Amino acid sequence: MPEPLNFDISVSSENQFIAEFPQNISLYLKREDLLHPEVSGNKFRKIKYNLKEALRQNKGTLLTFGGAFSNHITATAAAGKIAGIKTIGVIRGEELGEDLLKTLDGNPSLKFAHSCGMRLHFISRKEYREKTTLVFQQKLREEFGDFYLLPEGGTNDLAVNGCKEILGPGDEEFNYICCAVGTGGTISGIINASGIHQLILGFPALKGDFLAEEIRKYSEKNNWELILNYHFSGYAKVNSELINFINKFKKKYQIQLDPIYTGKLVFGIFDQIKRGKFPAGSKILAIHTGGLQGIEGVNKVLRKKNLPLIN
Ligand SMILES: *Cc1c(COP(=O)(O)O)cnc(C)c1O
Repeated sequence: MPEPLNFDISVSSENQFIAEFPQNISLYLKREDLLHPEVSGNKFRKIKYNLKEALRQNKGTLLTFGGAFSNHITATAAAGKIAGIKTIGVIRGEELGEDLLKTLDGNPSLKFAHSCGMRLHFISRKEYREKTTLVFQQKLREEFGDFYLLPEGGTNDLAVNGCKEILGPGDEEFNYICCAVGTGGTISGIINASGIHQLILGFPALKGDFLAEEIRKYSEKNNWELILNYHFSGYAKVNSELINFINKFKKKYQIQLDPIYTGKLVFGIFDQIKRGKFPAGSKILAIHTGGLQGIEGVNKVLRKKNLPLIN
């Protein structure tokens, strides 16, 4: 049994020293991945105040959206189970709903979500694109009754507030704070909690031209930048160079990175250090936002393509 999640406390996770590079550049990793075995990393931060709000509004059900291997879906399922609130996951890909047992058998993420009691509802890619429209949400309400809605990826104002708690006492000493970016919620919270002497670097895990605009919706500060060269061709796309980096990093530092977000982040930081992005004496804090549940699913795909696996 995992530790119970206490949504009333602000825990801060430890900064682990990783390495000293030439010119006194040092790198630390904030171990948000260790927050909870099932609701790990930034998804814990993003869900926390939303769950409280759902409970305050007396909503018995939380509904959210995601792809078939989504960290957000598994985290929501686990958090809902722990908090005693029903969850519905609206999943992209109607073909996955044709034979649920077969789908669960081939997809560890959905299997886990289902085992937490999440009700899975599969929709077509076309419907999925319409998920933010009122018409579609009305249709969902007709089918499932009233619910508290969490957007895809879990980003909203409450999520951004939760992500402010990623930074804690002592983190002012870092000049650079680096994190992976999906929807932009996590980095927005970190920017809002940062000092103006700090520069926040976001490494998008996808080709996200829209991301700067998203971040500006949630933060008025300007002490941030997006480093756009490390998405590895797009969301959930990987290549052998990235997989080899993740495997070598684990061997050397005994820390598992995930292939969708944190692997690309740390790869990017190492490369940027090599390219002289950081001035001498820089203290860099990278956020390990978790996401390790996704590895099994990615390995299944890699195995089919005869590519090296994450080990
Ligand atoms: C979802 C996720 C992110 C991206 O967070 P956003 O708030 O969507 O930008 C980063 N890292 C991991 C491990 C994630 O699961």
